[in-house]
Amino acid sequence: MSKVRVRFAPSPTGPLHIGGVRTALYNYLFARKTGGTYILRIEDTDRTRYVEGAEKYILESLKWCGLNPDESVEKEGDYGPYRQSDRKGMYVQYAEQLVESGHAYYAFDTPEELDKMREDLKTPEDPSPKYNYATRGKMKNSLSLSKETVQKMMNEGVAYVIRLLVEPGQEIHFNDIVRGAVSFKSEELDDKVLLKTDKMPTYHMANIVDDHFMEISHVIRGEEWLPSTPTHVLLYRFLGWEDTMPAFCHLPLILKPDGKGKLSKRYGAKVGIPVFPMNWESDTDFFIGFKEQGFLPEAMINFLAFLGWNPGTEQEIFNNEDLIQAFDLERINKSGARFDIQKARWFNQQYIMQTNDARLAELVRPYVEAEGHKPSEEYLQKVCVLMKERFEVLTEFWGNSKYFFEDVSEYDNQKVIRKKWKPENREKMHDLKSTVNRLRIFTAENIEEHVKKFIEENELSFGEVLPFIRLAVSGTTKGPSIFEIMSIIGEDEVAKRLEKGFEDFDKIKESLKNS
Ligand code: GLU
Repeated sequence: MSKVRVRFAPSPTGPLHIGGVRTALYNYLFARKTGGTYILRIEDTDRTRYVEGAEKYILESLKWCGLNPDESVEKEGDYGPYRQSDRKGMYVQYAEQLVESGHAYYAFDTPEELDKMREDLKTPEDPSPKYNYATRGKMKNSLSLSKETVQKMMNEGVAYVIRLLVEPGQEIHFNDIVRGAVSFKSEELDDKVLLKTDKMPTYHMANIVDDHFMEISHVIRGEEWLPSTPTHVLLYRFLGWEDTMPAFCHLPLILKPDGKGKLSKRYGAKVGIPVFPMNWESDTDFFIGFKEQGFLPEAMINFLAFLGWNPGTEQEIFNNEDLIQAFDLERINKSGARFDIQKARWFNQQYIMQTNDARLAELVRPYVEAEGHKPSEEYLQKVCVLMKERFEVLTEFWGNSKYFFEDVSEYDNQKVIRKKWKPENREKMHDLKSTVNRLRIFTAENIEEHVKKFIEENELSFGEVLPFIRLAVSGTTKGPSIFEIMSIIGEDEVAKRLEKGFEDFDKIKESLKNS
């Protein structure tokens, strides 16, 4: 195989959908696996769909995901420029070359005339007739008009486009790495516009010229581009480039969780799940992103890798290196992949649990600081060690861990106070607090040993004591070992909270009795 060169070629028409990230990922993995080159090319020739800020969003998202291209608008290689609008001048000659060789033609139809044709020729069987072998004779183009008329119109500066001439009666075959042999009948195609009136190329023209000159070996892209591929094959053929035409690999669709239909941004917004890597905010739209929802980029990448590919084993956790080793285009599935946010959360939790304490502390710090606390590095790391298994996304860290950083203001289990708190034990509870406060070695084991000893010696039961220590110290009856929590919070703070908690329980019990 000649040297692998692949490209991810997004159009800056809005935020980069998660399906686009998956396309970038598969390109990246394939390039890394084969020692090839992974290129980012910005396809911005459709100025009507251009969205301000989208290119920046694409670049930032790829950085966050760790999918850094070898060649791109930010890292020029030998095949630049890497933004199609900066290559504008390169395409016209190939469109003209196709006209000269009889594979394309000039068309002068105005948008109104095109609309009229579609209106006049539409039938119930064919509601949107194509500009093709059957209709082009009725339109204003260099095939239907005389040479003189064409020349005259050109001289007068009448606006024209260049269209590909697709003759009927041919079968266009190509091989797809995922789908195998694919063929289209040429009658199914239309005479696609290659060059627009402003001399900008369309996607088809620019894509083929660029893939050729950038020496792309494999086109790995979403399934929605499969119907364009026969047109592309014809372009390679007519330009005389068929022998170096890239291999095609069309990735399966990403479907909604129920498998019914594509995972769209509207759907994501409706059910509140992220379908973009990062938040996207424009004058008209706001969409949530994986990053801001508390996902780690490596977890999202691992999750995305499995949306359409599997390694053929039971293993699910693959770091970047593992993915590169295991990835294989041949193992990409044909059928659509269901997007399951619960699975994404599961992956995230696995990565949180694997993350080293220093990095995890760094990741959760912004959430703690947003609440007005600035814990020391050492303290935050201790909390992370204890809480690691208790949150699936980073955004859940604060809710589950706030008692490490601030006083308890509410108790989440009123029932246990009503049923089990015994004001008559107050004296003993007070002694317990003093015992705990006096401990010279404030480790979880030592606290546990002394608390249990105290319970036994004072003929109390665990149920009368432990839930209340927990509630007083953390405000909740859920969570990791209370002795571990106490050891982190420290003896003075624990003593203060026990004192306040016991007082509060008396009051709560009293008020519940009266209500
Ligand atoms: N610009 C196209 C897109 O937005 C690229 C399709 C392709 O990879 O050929 O997805």
